[in-house]
Amino acid sequence: MRKLPKERPEKCLTEIAKNIRLWNLVEKNNKKLAELQRKMSKCQKYSRQWKRYNRAKQYLLSKSKRKKKRSRCHNQRMSQWQVGKVKKYLTYKLKAEGIMLHKREERYTLQTCPVCGAKKNVRGRMYCCSCGYTQHRDIHGAANLLSKVLYENRIQSLPFEIQKPTYLRIA
Ligand SMILES: [Zn+2]
Repeated sequence: MRKLPKERPEKCLTEIAKNIRLWNLVEKNNKKLAELQRKMSKCQKYSRQWKRYNRAKQYLLSKSKRKKKRSRCHNQRMSQWQVGKVKKYLTYKLKAEGIMLHKREERYTLQTCPVCGAKKNVRGRMYCCSCGYTQHRDIHGAANLLSKVLYENRIQSLPFEIQKPTYLRIA
């Protein structure tokens, strides 16, 4: 197997970024569902507001392709299975490219600036730091993860230029 940094790192970066996006979507959906459930529990059952929340909940459920009502235990297993599926998918995709998968903890990878090391919570698509560093947030997270692999779990800037992302649709 070839090693990670030598062959076109920008290619695997975009691959990782895509998967982070997918992962975030799953997480976001689950969070929204939980919020709706919380709101519904405060409403009177079958009231107008309850129905409104219920409709939104059903919509989200249909989007996430989950089946009908399942036990809490089952739901938890399913949500974790999703993440496992993404990992499996990523391993398979990378293997086809001859790239090894290194597992690193993603904690703080989105918050930390690789240039000055400041931690900052970001909102929106771009990560901007007061030191002048800016990057697309997915690429930024992926680059920080790669940095953790290359520099023994430290987050610092990478020794190569990162390509700008190209979007399939203009949003
Ligand atoms: Zn900075």
